Amino acid sequence: METPARTGIAVVLGTRPEMVKLAGIIAELGEQARVFHTGQHYDPALSGDVWSSLGLPEPEAVLDVGGATRAVQVASALHQLDVHFAERPPRAVVVQGDTNATLAGALAANAHDIPLIHVEAGLRSFDRAMPEEHNRVMVDHLSDLLCAPTSTNVANLRAENVAAGRVLLTGNTVVEAVDAQRLDDRAASAVLDAHGLTPNRYVLATFHRPENTDPLEVLTTILEELAKIDAEVVAPLHPRTRSRIEKAGLSHLLAPLTVIDPVPPAEFLALAGNAAVLVSDSGGVQEECSVLKRPLLVVRASTERPEVIGTFAERTNPGPEISLIVNEWLDGLAAKHAELARTPSPYGDGSASARIATAIHSLLARQAEQHLSVR
Ligand code: UDP
Repeated sequence: METPARTGIAVVLGTRPEMVKLAGIIAELGEQARVFHTGQHYDPALSGDVWSSLGLPEPEAVLDVGGATRAVQVASALHQLDVHFAERPPRAVVVQGDTNATLAGALAANAHDIPLIHVEAGLRSFDRAMPEEHNRVMVDHLSDLLCAPTSTNVANLRAENVAAGRVLLTGNTVVEAVDAQRLDDRAASAVLDAHGLTPNRYVLATFHRPENTDPLEVLTTILEELAKIDAEVVAPLHPRTRSRIEKAGLSHLLAPLTVIDPVPPAEFLALAGNAAVLVSDSGGVQEECSVLKRPLLVVRASTERPEVIGTFAERTNPGPEISLIVNEWLDGLAAKHAELARTPSPYGDGSASARIATAIHSLLARQAEQHLSVR
C-alpha cells in the first residue's frame, strides 16, 4: 500500500495552558495547522470556554483521554494519534510544555518518524517528584527543534548534551498571548465590576498542583493561610481543587474567600493585571506576572521558572510564610508595583510565536532539500 503524502503541521495539545501558549503559533501557521485536542482537560471551564475565547480553529480531532490515570492518558492519546497520523501523516508535529498530551504527541511523532518541535523546551525544576519534569526531559530529547524561551533554558539543554543545532532561543509565547488577550481599560473595569472588585484591593489566588491539593494538611494550610491575608482573596477554583476540597470536607475553609469558577483567559488576565498581589502554583501565571507587572508568591517546593524569582516572584513552601509575605507586600504595595513596572519581562519581546513558525518552515524546507538531494 502506498504511504499517504504528508500534509499540514499537527499541533497536539490537551490542557488550558497549552491552548493559551500555542494560540499564537496556530494563528501563524494558518491553514497549515491541524489541531489535535487530546481531551486531557475536558471540563468546559478549562477546555471549551478557553478554546472559544482564544478563537482557536475547529480541531481536526478531539481524543478522549480525560479523567484517566497518567499512563492511560499517554497510552490512549498515543494510540489515537497513531491512527490519525497513519491515515493522514503531518509534515511536522508541534507540542508545548510538559503535560501528558505533550508526551503523547512527541511519542506519536517519533513513532512515525515525523519531525518534532517542542515549544517551551529546556525548562527544568530538577524535581524528580514531578511527572511534568519527566515529561519535559523525555520530550526535549526526542525533539528535532527545541524552542527554548530563555538563555537559562538553553543552558539546561546544553548541560544535557542536546546538540546546539537543534536548540533555538525564541522567547516565550506567553508574552504575545497576554498582549493578544489583554482587555482595554474599559472592558477590564467591567470585568472587575462584575465581580465587585476594586483595582489593587484584592489578591488573586489559583492553585491546582497535586502537591498542594492532595495531602490534606497541605490543602488545609493553604486555605487557612489565604484566610489570613489582609485583603479580599479571589480564588477561581480549578475543578480538581474544588473536588478535592469537597471530598476532604474542607468547604468551610472557603467561607473567608471569594470563590469563583475558572474564568476565560481574557477575564483572568484582567483580574490578575489589576490584583494587588498574586498567589499561585501555576506555571503560566509565573510567566504572566512578568508581563502584567504584578508580584507573585509561588507556593511550591520547586520551580522550573527561576527567571522571575527575586524580581516578579518569590517562592515558598505551603506554610506561615504565605500570609507573612503577602501581607508584607500589601504594606508596601505602591513601591512594589512601581518597581515591577520598570522591570522588563525575562520572557522576550512578544515575537516568539512568529519566530517559532519561521523556524518550523525552515526546518521543513531543509528536510525537503535533503530529501531531494538523496533521491
Ligand atoms: N487561567 C485562566 N483562567 C483561570 C485561571 C488561569 O484562563 O481561571 C490561565 C492563566 O492565565 C494561564 C493558564 O490558565 O495562562 C495557566 O494554566 P494552569 O494554571 O491550569 O496550568 P499551568 O500553567 O500550571 O500548567
